[in-house]
Order: sequence, then structure tokens, then C-alpha cells
Amino acid sequence: MLQNKTALVTGSTSGIGLGIAKALARQGANIMLNGFGDVDGARAEVEALGVRVGYHGADMSKTADIEDMMRAAAAQFGRVDVLVNNAGIQHVAPVQDFPVDRWDAIIAINLSSAFHTTRLALPAMLAANWGRIINVASVHGLVASAQKSAYVAAKHGVVGLTKVTALETATTGVTCNAICPGWVLTPLVQKQVDAKAAALGLSNEEATKLLLGEKEPSMQFTTPEELGELAVFFCSPAANNVRGVAWNMDGGWAAQ
Ligand code: NAD
Repeated sequence: MLQNKTALVTGSTSGIGLGIAKALARQGANIMLNGFGDVDGARAEVEALGVRVGYHGADMSKTADIEDMMRAAAAQFGRVDVLVNNAGIQHVAPVQDFPVDRWDAIIAINLSSAFHTTRLALPAMLAANWGRIINVASVHGLVASAQKSAYVAAKHGVVGLTKVTALETATTGVTCNAICPGWVLTPLVQKQVDAKAAALGLSNEEATKLLLGEKEPSMQFTTPEELGELAVFFCSPAANNVRGVAWNMDGGWAAQ
């Protein structure tokens, strides 16, 4: 379905971003990876799917890096047809104790980076009259949890940016939608399981059950593979008129 198209997925060296990159690659899209950590491992996993793979190490908190990444993607692949804004970080603390540098980093990486990639990708998408912008928000783009002021503010912001972008492109072949996962067992969430286990003297299994039980009625993690298939749906012709949605895949979290 996505042969001869290029998808740029921010934060795609692990977790959800890598899952979405692989799902899009299975549809034939060439992939521009981004993120830190095991870059070679991620590249090998996507290359094994038989598509062309590029990588840019832009730090999503830096506007100039993002501009350079978008230029590099256009130079290597011609155009970004599918933009997945996925890079994100977390920090937990009460508002009055929230470290200012963590607030600034979360707003920059989880929210402002999506504005920058979107503004830079849109002109070529509009010229081609086809494009897909998929913002990985969170169930925290729809509802709040204590201790996550910056994250919840950023993710609500991403849902807002998604709606505005969808409205501004509504009469074109470009769509913009958000994906709102509940708990997904990635390094970002394992850190929260570890913190719970350490604070309460629990085993990994007990802490995992507690984490799920607090929020997710299905008592089941959503997987990067499932989220990847939702991204594939947003890219399909059947989703031509799906615009500005914030689609939760959250085991019933936001239904409560
Ligand atoms: P992860 O930690 O596994 O992956 C995050 C990715 O972002 C990695 O590739 C990392 O290298 C990259 N990254 C981090 N900081 C970056 C920066 N400054 N510049 C460029 N890349 C950077 O996390 P994940 O759980 O896969 O999260 C991916 C997205 O999904 C995030 O936006 C997160 O908020 C969202 N999300 C996660 C969950 C969950 O339960 N894991 C739930 C809802 C939403």
C-alpha cells in the first residue's frame, strides 16, 4: 500500500516508534528513523523488511536539529509522505516540585517538535495533494493523571495541534490524526514499573499488575504492533476522510 512512499518516524529506535516504523515498512514504505540508543539494531530490524532505511540523530528538543532532519529526509528520499510524531519522554513529580528543566524538555520534545516537523513537512505534502500526519499523543491527551503535569499538558497540546492541522488541511489529500495509547510496555513505562517496585518493595510482576490495575480495565498492555496497525489504517484509502481524531487504544482507560 505504501510502495514508493517515505515515512519519517521520530523516536523510532525503540518502543512504539519502532513498532510503527516496522508496520509502515511492511506496507512498503521507505523509513527515515530518528532517536537515540540502539540505532544499528533498529535499522537492522527495519531493513530486514526489504525497504530503504535512513537515519537522522536530531534531538527533538532542538529546532535547528529538526530543520536539518527534514532537509536530510527530503534530500535522501525526495519527500516525506507520512510523518509520525512519536518521540517523547516522561517525568513524574507534583506540580510544585516539578523540575523546570524537565518541564521545558517535555514541552519541547513531546509537543513543540510536532509543530516543527508538521510545518516543515506540510508544503511538500500539499503540493503532492497526499500526506499523512500521525501524532502519537496518549490517553493523557484525553484525561489526566496526578504527577504528570508537563506530560498531560504536552499531550493535550498534541491533540489540539492535531485538530487544527486537520481543519487546515480538510479539503486536501493530507490528513492529520492522533493515536492515544494507554499503557504500552516500553522502556518509558518499565521505568515507572521499576519506580513502583522500588518504592513499595514489590516484585516486577506485582508492580506491573498494580500499574495496570490503577488505570487499564483490560489489565493488558497495548502493543507497539497494534499501534502500528492503527497507523497503517490511517494511511489507507479507507481513512481518507478520517480527520482530526484522537483515537485511544487504551484497554478501556478513558471509558471510565
Ligand atoms: P521509548 O522510551 O521506548 O521511546 C522513545 C523514543 O524517543 C526512543 O526512540 C528515544 O530514543 C526517542 N527520544 C527520546 N528523546 C528524544 C529526543 N530528545 N530526540 C529524539 N528522539 C528522542 O518510549 P515509548 O513508550 O515508545 O514512547 C513513544 C511515544 O509514545 C511517546 O511520545 C510517549 O509519550 C507515547 N506514549 C507511550 C505510552 C506507553 O505506555 N509507553 C503510552 C502513551 C503514549
